[in-house]
Amino acid sequence: MKHRFFLVTVSALALVACSSQTNSAGENASSNTQVSGEQSAHKEVLVADEAQFEKAVKDAQPGDVIVLANGEWRDFDAVFKGEGTKEAPITLKAETEGGVALTGQSSLRLGGEYLEVSGLVFQDGFTARNEVISFRVDEENLAHNSRVSNTVIKNYSNPDRTQRDTWVAMYGKNNEFNHNHLEGKLNSGPTMIIRLNTEESQENNHFVHHNYFGPRPVLGSNGGETFRIGTSHYSLTNSNSRVEHNYFDRCSGEVEIISNKSGGNTYRNNTFFSSRGTLTLRHGNGTTVENNLFDGNGAPFTGGVRVINARQSIKNNYFKDLTGERFSGGLVVMNGVPNSPINRYHQVDGAAIEGNVFENIVAIELGEGSDTERSAVPINSTFKNNVLLNEKEAPFTLHDDMSGIEFSGNKANQAPPEALSSGFEVSPGLTQEVDASKYGVAKEETGVRWFPKADAGDLFDTGSDVVVSPGENAISDALKSAKAGDRLILEAGDYKESKIVDLKIPVTISAKDGVEVNLSFERKNMFVFSKDAALKLEGVSVTGKQAPDNVGNSFITTTSVEGARNHVLVIKNSNFKDFVVNRSFSIVSAAKGTLFKKIKIEDSSFSNISGSVVKLNGETDDYGMYNVETLKVSGSKFSDIQGPALNVYRGGRDESTFGPFVWVKDSEFVNAASSGGPSVLFHGVQVLKIEGNSIEKSEPFKFIITTGKPAPVVEGNSLNGDVAATVLTIEDLRK
Ligand code: CA
Repeated sequence: MKHRFFLVTVSALALVACSSQTNSAGENASSNTQVSGEQSAHKEVLVADEAQFEKAVKDAQPGDVIVLANGEWRDFDAVFKGEGTKEAPITLKAETEGGVALTGQSSLRLGGEYLEVSGLVFQDGFTARNEVISFRVDEENLAHNSRVSNTVIKNYSNPDRTQRDTWVAMYGKNNEFNHNHLEGKLNSGPTMIIRLNTEESQENNHFVHHNYFGPRPVLGSNGGETFRIGTSHYSLTNSNSRVEHNYFDRCSGEVEIISNKSGGNTYRNNTFFSSRGTLTLRHGNGTTVENNLFDGNGAPFTGGVRVINARQSIKNNYFKDLTGERFSGGLVVMNGVPNSPINRYHQVDGAAIEGNVFENIVAIELGEGSDTERSAVPINSTFKNNVLLNEKEAPFTLHDDMSGIEFSGNKANQAPPEALSSGFEVSPGLTQEVDASKYGVAKEETGVRWFPKADAGDLFDTGSDVVVSPGENAISDALKSAKAGDRLILEAGDYKESKIVDLKIPVTISAKDGVEVNLSFERKNMFVFSKDAALKLEGVSVTGKQAPDNVGNSFITTTSVEGARNHVLVIKNSNFKDFVVNRSFSIVSAAKGTLFKKIKIEDSSFSNISGSVVKLNGETDDYGMYNVETLKVSGSKFSDIQGPALNVYRGGRDESTFGPFVWVKDSEFVNAASSGGPSVLFHGVQVLKIEGNSIEKSEPFKFIITTGKPAPVVEGNSLNGDVAATVLTIEDLRK
């Protein structure tokens, strides 16, 4: 890093010019800064190392600007503490916007009054603290009337996904967070939080607006919220935060996109695009949700708003193409617990659900969660002047007595259930002009204008085709120069790999059309996935005969050592044979702390295997974590397998995940559990479909229910030719 130190005195008017920001809606104290020409001169100080930065912070007077020199600032544990004024805040900014990269174990803490930060990029690292950006230095030194804007945090995740941290934490009062870009958090803990843990941080009036919340992949346990305001402990206190004009793009970490756990908040004109889960009004009263756009884009598990507690207002929102059900419905009104403890479910009382448009919504769940504990039905509530347009039937499910919700003035094109019919005018030809500009916010109006938004996320076959001829290490050699999205096309012949392939990018490995390709490998694994690894394997025949005489070999496995992203594996038209050199040889396994977002096995066969074909039971702590979100097997044959042929484990009792989702269809299992146990074992799976399979010379499948209310779909299967036989045994551990 270059060592430069400038001390420049400019007029206060120049400060206004140089620090003007893309702030269109800021009304908080710090954003309407007006500086008159009468103000005293201020310093602009360019700092090039930590010592210079610390001195500049110590010396800073109201109106001063501290400029971080362009370049990489590694392991920069920055403390920005000062006392600016409303008229003359103290500013910390990058020499040029986006020109400063904070890497390694960098973080930023703010403390004091009227501080402004902008133009920074956090990347290539993770925080060693609990937070990357914190609006407090420590318990005694909080920030007030301060603002962070035009700042990026991307791929700044702790490589150990069980380690919990938060990227942005707001404390204090009257702070503002706007036009920032937060993308790709992979480890446990909300992306952003507003905390109310001391009086100094309550009734805080924070303003969070025009931010781009980029894709948050499935976490595979609780703790994957994109945003949380408050905690159950302080939830009867008001936060009075405003969350407006933010874009939530594929924020799918868990069942709560936003976990609202305090009172008096406003969510207005936000867009939720293709995001799993809901804006959950989990704790606290008197929150307003209005003019938002919930566009599920037809993606799985996408939801709208989940309502709990008193005096919640859900008005004039546009809900469309949401496919989620149960806790992830387009609208979910929960049952409460009578005299609920602070951390359970308070009764819905005085909810106003009015003037919304629901278009192609799979589920509106009323009285959701009703059971012997959650028996308090909604009261004093209204559902009025809403419009419902659905291609199929009306989306309502009544889980309990809904007489505490007054239905009136609604319009629909499909008839609602009888109990609600007096509150609806039904006209089959109903159409509704929806002025989309009234709802949500356009993506390009959010985030940081000089930093690109996330792309569509296509993994495979976006790069070049690379033709590979047979030979020793031909595949690993070709992969050395392969780029993300490339496709290796294998010519006919024998491929022998003597080294483990450390796969870090998405690639396709495919036999040339119709030719025979044989693959063998000499190490305990053929592929170890880390970072962005994803693999599509097509048309190859693989043998385990050359593998070493070790217990627990696996053709594909994962490691968390280099920071595991969510992986995808597709195996198609391939054959796997003779994986018996020692015990417990599997085809696909996963290290603890890693997650496959999707595994798809199609039209493939597996025979003579000493372990499991899919062995995803590494998460044994029962914390609700697991190794695969979606497993789909179709048109495949499993024979002579020690078993279970498929083994998926999700322990723990919490209700925060959608997965694992498992679908096995049109497949054959012959002698698929020669060890004598179940031929497949699904422990704690949340969604299970078993359709059109035949099981021969094997024990039935086994499903162990641990949490939620999974209702397995079991259709068209047979056991030893008997279509009436029980092919799935169920053990219920919930009691
Ligand atoms: Ca949660």
